[in-house]
Amino acid sequence: MLHDALGRPLHDLRVSVTDRCNFRCAYCMPRDVYDRDHVYLPRDEILTFEEIERLVRVFAGLGVEKVRLTGGEPLLRHDLDDLVARVAAVERISDVAMTTNGSTLARHATALAEAGLDRVTVSLDAVDDTSFRGAADVDFPVARVLEGIDAAKDAGLTPVKINTVVRRGLNDETIVDIAGAFRETGHIVRFIEYMDVGSSNDWKMKDVVTADQILATIADEWPLDPIDPNYPGEVVRRWRYRDGQGEIGVIASVSKPFCGECTRLRLSADGSIYTCLFATQGTDLRDPLRSGATDEELVELITAVWQARSDRYSEERTGVSLGLPKVEMSFIGG
Ligand code: SAM
Ligand code: SF4
Ligand code: SF4
Repeated sequence: MLHDALGRPLHDLRVSVTDRCNFRCAYCMPRDVYDRDHVYLPRDEILTFEEIERLVRVFAGLGVEKVRLTGGEPLLRHDLDDLVARVAAVERISDVAMTTNGSTLARHATALAEAGLDRVTVSLDAVDDTSFRGAADVDFPVARVLEGIDAAKDAGLTPVKINTVVRRGLNDETIVDIAGAFRETGHIVRFIEYMDVGSSNDWKMKDVVTADQILATIADEWPLDPIDPNYPGEVVRRWRYRDGQGEIGVIASVSKPFCGECTRLRLSADGSIYTCLFATQGTDLRDPLRSGATDEELVELITAVWQARSDRYSEERTGVSLGLPKVEMSFIGG
């Protein structure tokens, strides 16, 4: 098994399949930055499904077992079920998941599940149209996202997880509504601390609502008890409602960072690998891929990158890379 400079194995891969999105969440792709003039990756610079499949096979040989498709909005990529089928068929890949804004999930869930998708996470920061419009900065009905969540459940992509990023002044007043909407449904809401990813969201510490604050707000309404992680090193901290009506999670990336458990590599839509969400640069694999590199040569390249990895940005926050132009989350894959 391949280990990095801090002894962490390579275990999961996040694949960004596009840098485009139909939403404009202020913490991710603020509209004033991602406007009409924003230049997205041209089609020929984006990895094809064949290229992604080949890389996944190489990564699987190095220890990767879990793959998550993300973006940008992954469902903007046509025929994503074809990619899912290719990835799911790779030997040693035991779990294929996707993170989506859910806007078109209702019409894709069945095909994705049939192709081999195991699980889906739907990002949703509010359950009423007004707050949702404020968060995602689009005129899009929450009901359509909820239909997507239902379709995912019907297709067996369960338990459906709901990612809710909490940002002060944006949706912190509606945490209880969100928790309430998914109690008793079997879906698991995971509240995520607002992170300083990228350089365009004008992140400020004062806008972070900590996991402890989120938990206190919910526990005030419905008492909570902690539950054990699903596996050692799981980054989400799990809680269940004392009245037995379900489970929630908190991801305390800012207040209680978990870099020591980070076994994740990211592949951008244009074929570079990044060893941290807060990376300032990646390593290109597309050129070698397209200029005839053998699998052994790719293995050598990836091995060198992972073995040199010493990232622990969240634990060092306020440290070295603050102020440097970090890669945007929509590009690197959230
Ligand atoms: N478009 C898809 C979606 O929204 O689910 C996939 C890509 S999105 C970049 C992946 C996840 O990153 C989403 O759950 C989103 O809420 C989260 N995210 C984006 N920017 C964030 C930030 N600044 N802090 C915390 N989470 C963030
Ligand atoms: Fe799009 Fe997802 Fe970023 Fe929102 S979080 S802008 S849905 S990529
Ligand atoms: Fe992993 Fe980087 Fe996040 Fe730490 S800051 S958990 S190393 S992605």
